[in-house]
Amino acid sequence: MTKLKFYSGLKEIGGTVVAVETDKAICLFDFGFSYADRLDSKVPLRKGMEAYDYVRLGVLNAIDGIYEPEIAHKLDIKGCGETDKEIFVIISHMHIDHMGGLGALDQRIPVYMSSQSATLYHELGVMGELEIREHENVIPVDYDGSFTVGDITITCVQVDHDVIGACGFMIKTPDGSICYTGDYRYHGYHPEISAAFAQKCKGADVMISEGVTISHNDVDVLSLEGPYRDNNEYTLLDKMKEYASADSEFAGGLIVINNYNRNVERIHNFARVIKETGRELVLEPEQAEYVAAFYQEDEFSVYLPEGGSVDGLLIKNRRIVTRKDILANPSRFVLQQDYKHAYELFELAGVISVYLHMDGAPLGDYDPSYAKFYELLSVARINVVRCGLGGHAEPYYLRKQVDDIAPRTLIPLHSFRPEQLLSRNVERIVLPNLNDTIELVNGECFFENNAWCWCSNKR
Ligand SMILES: [Zn+2]
Ligand SMILES: [Zn+2]
Repeated sequence: MTKLKFYSGLKEIGGTVVAVETDKAICLFDFGFSYADRLDSKVPLRKGMEAYDYVRLGVLNAIDGIYEPEIAHKLDIKGCGETDKEIFVIISHMHIDHMGGLGALDQRIPVYMSSQSATLYHELGVMGELEIREHENVIPVDYDGSFTVGDITITCVQVDHDVIGACGFMIKTPDGSICYTGDYRYHGYHPEISAAFAQKCKGADVMISEGVTISHNDVDVLSLEGPYRDNNEYTLLDKMKEYASADSEFAGGLIVINNYNRNVERIHNFARVIKETGRELVLEPEQAEYVAAFYQEDEFSVYLPEGGSVDGLLIKNRRIVTRKDILANPSRFVLQQDYKHAYELFELAGVISVYLHMDGAPLGDYDPSYAKFYELLSVARINVVRCGLGGHAEPYYLRKQVDDIAPRTLIPLHSFRPEQLLSRNVERIVLPNLNDTIELVNGECFFENNAWCWCSNKR
């Protein structure tokens, strides 16, 4: 028998942790933080005790067999190597709510992810962006590649999301098939990749889907007849080109972009169109390193405000642009700036013609930093244009993906209101409670009495 256990991430956005357990093995996905707001950056985690502190905070889950024995015993659970089944982790993409906890695992736990995610994961480690430490036992898997642990076979199926390397998974056990969408969208550069995901997972017995965009407003997804949004990565690319061109209203000064720096494909495309306008694209070392890991040929320079060098990085031979260079000739450049370096804007404010806030932190007014940041921009008298796109499929596509896959059972999660994701093309929809177990027998799900359930008339 196959059991699905839901540890966290059901009615929240973040910390999706689900176990698929058979007689021989346990597959866990994903491994990010839930309730990350319980962390207070003013209180540092204790060195060597990070995993323990995270579990006690409820940010990570108490799960047998995945933590170092010493930590696990203190938590009253079994340590790595002390369970009788093989345990492994699969990760859909490099967003903190899906991978932030990897550094807490015992280094022996095998962690599978797409090859592109593995490249980005390593670069995040190089740039000091990982929590606790870089996990050593990472196994890259090509898109459409499969591997088997015990009697569980996993296929890595690419999706389009706002981070390079994103995938979902098809999980097959002797009792049935489970498709996990990870996070995905249809307004990126490759809507066809998300559509292909649906074709490849068609007919899965169980579909576990994200539902971020139905989190806040009332949405009747069954009545939606088509997509409503009219912007996407291509319209943003056009806008970037227009703003950077010589006859734009912003031609007289420096253009600053605040991009989400794991979305390297956006910068890859920007590099091309910005070059056509005659401006020079200048990236901070972190962003530059991430882009260089995937697109060696892209033309960009590296921003070091005071000058210097970036030895030891992939970008070590790139041209360095300093603050002085920019102040001397601001209209020649497009400069990428992370929120972390916002005070640098005080130096540049006088020459900035526009600041393009495009999916970089702070993302929205739910983040306490957001109001502070906009206050800073206003105090510095910086002209801001918001042009973010987000990374999640709009409600119409959330439903269409379910319609197309047509699973027997749908389990929506990763949403504040997962019950809003409905489809007439499924037999039933189940919303388990935390720590519930769903049994999968012959492709059919059996679940606890108190779980929420919706049946279509297909059944
Ligand atoms: Zn994501
Ligand atoms: Zn997510």
